[in-house]
Amino acid sequence: PGSMRALHKDYRTATPQNFSSYESMKQDFKLEIPEYFNFAKDVLDQWTNMEKAGKKPSNPAFWWINGNGEEVRWSFEELGSLSRKFANILTDACALQRGDRVIVILPRIPEWWLANVACLRTGTVLIPGTTQLTEKDILYRLQSSKAKCIITNDVLAPAVDAIAPKCENLHSKLIVSQNSREGWGNLKEMMKHASDNHTCVKTKHNEIMAIFFTSGTTGSPKMTGHTHSSFGLGLSINGRFWLDLIPSDVMWNTSDTGWAKSAWSSVFSPWIQGACVFSHYLPHFEPTSILQTLSKFPITVFCSAPTAYRMLVQNDMTGYKFKSLKHCVSAGEPINPEVTEQWRNKTGLDIYEGYGQTETVLICGNFKGMKIKPGSMGKPSPAFDVKILDAHGNILPPGEEGDIGIRVLPNRPFGLFTHYVDDPSKTDSTLRGNFYVTGDRGYMDKDGYFWFVARSDDIILSSGYRIGPFEVESALIEHPSVAESAVVSSPDPIRGEVVKAFIVLNPDYESHDQEQLKKEIQEHVKKTTAPYKYPRKVEFIPELPKTVSGKIKRNELRKKEWKIV
Ligand code: ATP
Ligand code: MG
Repeated sequence: PGSMRALHKDYRTATPQNFSSYESMKQDFKLEIPEYFNFAKDVLDQWTNMEKAGKKPSNPAFWWINGNGEEVRWSFEELGSLSRKFANILTDACALQRGDRVIVILPRIPEWWLANVACLRTGTVLIPGTTQLTEKDILYRLQSSKAKCIITNDVLAPAVDAIAPKCENLHSKLIVSQNSREGWGNLKEMMKHASDNHTCVKTKHNEIMAIFFTSGTTGSPKMTGHTHSSFGLGLSINGRFWLDLIPSDVMWNTSDTGWAKSAWSSVFSPWIQGACVFSHYLPHFEPTSILQTLSKFPITVFCSAPTAYRMLVQNDMTGYKFKSLKHCVSAGEPINPEVTEQWRNKTGLDIYEGYGQTETVLICGNFKGMKIKPGSMGKPSPAFDVKILDAHGNILPPGEEGDIGIRVLPNRPFGLFTHYVDDPSKTDSTLRGNFYVTGDRGYMDKDGYFWFVARSDDIILSSGYRIGPFEVESALIEHPSVAESAVVSSPDPIRGEVVKAFIVLNPDYESHDQEQLKKEIQEHVKKTTAPYKYPRKVEFIPELPKTVSGKIKRNELRKKEWKIV
């Protein structure tokens, strides 16, 4: 009974939120964790029932385009039927059992979503991977996860075959392809013959549901375990409060299928709210295709990364009309106020920044109806008690910078990962006093807004000052010549370390006198932030090192500066 009650009373809402204040939103939030929970059965199949009963707007559950005129639209019923067929393939042909791990490395094609739901239905543990993985990465992931099954496409199948003999647990392989391949089950063919009669497993809320690799911004990606409640239920927080979704919405999130961000915004958050998941199969990020799609399709909610917004605002957008768009969000990195301002000038819409990790659901966010303070990550999400901590786990007062932590004692909140798989010491290292420490530094202002300063490792200590790179980067990007920058510490014989900026110039400025430009940029930063933060060293480079998901790898630049190999 728990799950149904929770479903109706606590999180699945079909009406707009219209909270008058942050406080009323927090008050409205309550969530009972049922003993058993399975997103496929308790959410998706319930939406199918609503759909059949005519109690839901007629927009699809899933809407996919590929840019070549191909289009796929599924209702919740069709999604249900297709995912049951896929589930039968996993249990029958692949002989997988509940708890077995399945690595899915697919681009943004409809089968990726079916794989997600099929894993839920069978209780197998999904491990998504990005298609940019190399043979070596795949080997690492297969071995470290002990996955029994891999699902991928033509492009990556040869890499899998090359390393498969070294993966003793791997016993079944599915390919999504028009062609058959020796040793692989052809998913498209098998789907034609599979039965859609399947009973969803009854999963405990605290049973492991999926393992996500972190983005690897600071080192090797970590395997992060999530349960049916931590993400399956927990992401209702994102869907309801941050994304502000209702069933008539069409939500497009541009992130790669390989990261937790896709679970956040391309699977659980929209579907829990009964909204349509929109996807455009784009092998590469092309700003003009994104803008065209946003104006051509009735997308109402758009989610992207700061790096993408930075590229989008560099385009002339006067020719585009975004008729349906009403809510834009960003997460994954801090977004520069200059970029949000340009986006607002060009679209009339604010960007609601959210802050979270692979390990968590939304930690802080800007919510509808709340005043946005540009540059701030907003206020804590209703799921978490977020505090700024000192080195001993004591709570710091407003205005003081410290480590961003989430209270886990006496009660561990749901919406938080269980552990780093096979790495208890790493898991333990995230605990301090009564808190989980995020590894990020920030402060809370007197109004309760949180401000990101930096990842702990990115802080620069110069002549006794602590400097966060983001603030310097945000000042830099205000200068017309700067397209993007990364600010890191660099050795200095007198000051110990100084601020160094790596700058990517806007094409119009590439031929300018670089010494002159450097001085101008330095003067600009001295004027817009406290002068001690200005970059004493400046280097122009053609592009910044980034992760697959587009995050700036400052640590790579820093290591080069300090000659650490
Ligand atoms: P790894 O842990 O492997 O080094 P990662 O931390 O980048 O990689 P993710 O879990 O994808 O992996 O990213 C979470 C991190 O992204 C946060 O800890 C924070 O540093 C950063 N982040 C996310 N959203 C924001 C935001 N709105 N503002 C500032 N930083 C953000
Ligand atoms: Mg991290």
